[in-house]
Amino acid sequence: MLDMTVEATGCASSRQVGSTDGDTLHEECGVFGVWAPGRDVARITYFGLKALQHRGQESAGIAVGDGGTVMVRKDLGLIDQVFSEADLSTLTGQLAVGHVRYGTAGAKSWEAAQPHLSTINDVIIALAHNGTLVNTDELRRQLIELGVPFLSNSDSEVAAKLIGYFTQRTHHLREGIRKTMELVRGGYAMTLINEEALYAFRDPYGIRPLVLGRLGGEASGEAGASEEPPAWIVASETCALDIVGATYVRDIRPGEILRISAEGLVSEQGVPAAKESAECIFEQVYFARPDSFMGGKSVYACRYDMGCQLAREVPVEADMVIGVPDSGLPPAEGYAAVSGIPFGEGLIKNRYVARTFIQPTQELRAMGVRMKLNPLRDNIAGKRLVVIDDSIVRGTTMVQLVRMLRQAGAAEVHVRINSPEVVWPCFYGIDTDVQTQLISANKTVEEIRAFIGADSLAFLSVEGLLACVPAIGVRAGEGAGAPARGYCTACFTGVYPVAIPESFGRDKFMDGYDPCNLTESPVLPRDIVQEKDRDHSWEASHPGA
Ligand code: SF4
Repeated sequence: MLDMTVEATGCASSRQVGSTDGDTLHEECGVFGVWAPGRDVARITYFGLKALQHRGQESAGIAVGDGGTVMVRKDLGLIDQVFSEADLSTLTGQLAVGHVRYGTAGAKSWEAAQPHLSTINDVIIALAHNGTLVNTDELRRQLIELGVPFLSNSDSEVAAKLIGYFTQRTHHLREGIRKTMELVRGGYAMTLINEEALYAFRDPYGIRPLVLGRLGGEASGEAGASEEPPAWIVASETCALDIVGATYVRDIRPGEILRISAEGLVSEQGVPAAKESAECIFEQVYFARPDSFMGGKSVYACRYDMGCQLAREVPVEADMVIGVPDSGLPPAEGYAAVSGIPFGEGLIKNRYVARTFIQPTQELRAMGVRMKLNPLRDNIAGKRLVVIDDSIVRGTTMVQLVRMLRQAGAAEVHVRINSPEVVWPCFYGIDTDVQTQLISANKTVEEIRAFIGADSLAFLSVEGLLACVPAIGVRAGEGAGAPARGYCTACFTGVYPVAIPESFGRDKFMDGYDPCNLTESPVLPRDIVQEKDRDHSWEASHPGA
């Protein structure tokens, strides 16, 4: 369980920093898309979003295309709070996109909820975005100068408006997407529809996840059985394919634009893929559901292996291993398996303290972690515990957790974290707040141990973590056995795969920290005004096509 505000952006203003909405569990956004003529696309999207609800609980939305127009319904709240049976019945069409969002405190508005609708003259698109764009301030300014209106300060809306703007000029939506991909920087996985086609595209590093699945379309082989035409799904995680009965086909590739329509699937490289991909390794540590597969390995298995590795790297004598639900449970099982210390249940999670609009009173909020977790006193009294959690970010939740376990009778509390220390802020979809609030940027491990009141504390190494996730994007010529590559580890190492504009990131770093890839340039290859003067015709960008 992350122990501080880890906010999704790409759904919120990219400039908001230091927001703290309590010391609660925050995740990122989830996106979903379906192309399925003849089927109930709104309901398929609804169930897909249900599987992705863990990625965002603040707002939800579905946009449907029916061949003639695009309709959207979105609002603040969980999916069940936003959509009634009647809502789903009125959203009829052949294709849809959906979004679940967690945003910053200042952006809890209907306008910031997604999908974003962009209507510039006759171009109507609906966009769902997971990630953060780091250079949208300047792009927004230029679009406003060009007369494009904005409803929110969200970076996602800038992307939607850019796509609409260039589509209008080029008369090709795919070209509008491609030109937008050339201009924006950051981490993004996006799904988009117009009236008749579904698009899915991903940043050149593949930082945020996006998968393709197929629904039906295979003959059953039984006499008389009718062959259903295939339908296509795109989603942040494979668990969303499972819930609607779709089969995983492949990941959307870094820099790829996939178009799905009555003409079938068309793939093109929107922008060149980076030399080495940089998928967010925190998906495996915490964000993704354990039943999702990433890089061919289940997230559960990755977390289990992290626990095994942790036991090898930082063993300790104890009587029982417990995990902090939910993401700490698989690594706790792994730690127990390698150490030989029995695994046990030590903490029970109240699953119904999700984000609601009935805020707890100040007195209840002060109870903090007790709102979510309660110790199993019978199991832990008198025992030396190894407590496994996914990360320590600010540290305040862990203080309460250790105190709670001691009050419940634990003889010793040894904290083991199945990820390295979070020292650097994230700019690609997770707002881990300013660096001053990251405890590992401010204290040594021993000082953190003393702060949280544990008997011992240790973290998994970066190398150890990389050894537990599948190798992706391994360079040509390096086969099996080569170290796992292709992951962003910036929040542990300060090595940022996508350059961060100084104006965007500098105020998030503490003095003395020198991140790799902070740039003074605006990270903009050319501006929109220059783009305006270029030949935007389809033929110009597809010579010989
Ligand atoms: S900085 Fe950390 S949380 Fe952000 S994309 Fe990279 S690995 Fe993921």
